[in-house]
Amino acid sequence: MDLQAQYQSIKPEIDGAIQAVIEKGAFISGPFARQFEEDFKQYVGTEYCMSCGNGTDAIEILLQAMGIGPGDEVIVPAISWIATSEAVSTVGATPIFVDLHPETYTIDPNLIEAKITKKTKAIIPVHLYGNPADMPAIMKIAASYNLKVLEDCAQAHGAEIAGKRIGGWGDASSFSFYPGKNLGAYGDAGAMLTNDEEIAVKAKMIANHGQLKKHNHQMEGRNSRLDGIQAAILSAKLPHIESWTEKRISRAAKYQELLADSVITLPQVRPGDRHVYHVYVIQIDNRDQVKEKLQKAGITSLIHYPTPLPLLPPYAHQGHKPEDFPVASSMVQRILSPPIYPELTDEMIEYVVDHLLH
Ligand SMILES: *Cc1c(COP(=O)(O)O)cnc(C)c1O
Repeated sequence: MDLQAQYQSIKPEIDGAIQAVIEKGAFISGPFARQFEEDFKQYVGTEYCMSCGNGTDAIEILLQAMGIGPGDEVIVPAISWIATSEAVSTVGATPIFVDLHPETYTIDPNLIEAKITKKTKAIIPVHLYGNPADMPAIMKIAASYNLKVLEDCAQAHGAEIAGKRIGGWGDASSFSFYPGKNLGAYGDAGAMLTNDEEIAVKAKMIANHGQLKKHNHQMEGRNSRLDGIQAAILSAKLPHIESWTEKRISRAAKYQELLADSVITLPQVRPGDRHVYHVYVIQIDNRDQVKEKLQKAGITSLIHYPTPLPLLPPYAHQGHKPEDFPVASSMVQRILSPPIYPELTDEMIEYVVDHLLH
């Protein structure tokens, strides 16, 4: 990604936003955070938006607001950023891992039911890489077992299923605005969205020391608030997200056009879904050699992620083997993310593809 190029394209708007916060002295939460919450809930299409410190906090606080804690189990995909499963453990519950769908790389709904026990309280689908998880199928399972659904939307701002934005499908959703995400602040930032008033009120309280009004502490909470400067930057950037997303989609289409006849496995999108390409993940033979070759040509590529979550040391006590997650275990050997961001030119993509193929 190239955050500098994005800043240069909207410099006056960003500089003006930061200046306004300093002049008002509204550094923590306050009017700029309230404005961004209004802007962002309209964008996603939910009734409530509560800003918070980062995307990891958003998952933790929403789980707590849903009443999930010690003794409970929460179903998560076998591949994600560790924040997804970490948040489950932080609230005292146990993450239960489910393998991915081999084509969309999101949690495979067909494998969820086998992992449901009496202790299962929730499912966290992750819209991994920017590709929507199969929410209609997941909501159906959740309804029949009375489970809560928390969408982890950290990589998928603006993704859609059948014209409806992700973040409004489950009982609640978490967003991260880490600088490198599709909508990024200039520091840590996060948000929690829902249509459920009870979850909204509880999440808002937890994020601000258990109070809705000053010194009216109804419970013990924590400090997870959005900075005014980050809120103002996000409000300034939000009007651009659709055009940036369209550019990401067109960059993905360019890769697709140039790589269609190759042996490289390309991202797949279910009909009617809008993939927003937070990253462009391909599968390729001799991945490590290809990655090194790209690096020598000045092209940075990344691996999202090198190890399935259940095979990481913090989950060793669950005793999983690679064979338990055949899709995740096989893809981590072959996945590679070449550059993708709105400002990437056709010429740059041609250069990358040239080095991928030869
Ligand atoms: C980035 C990310 C998070 C965590 O967000 P932070 O703001 O970095 O705490 C959670 N889940 C996924 C899938 C992510 O990519």
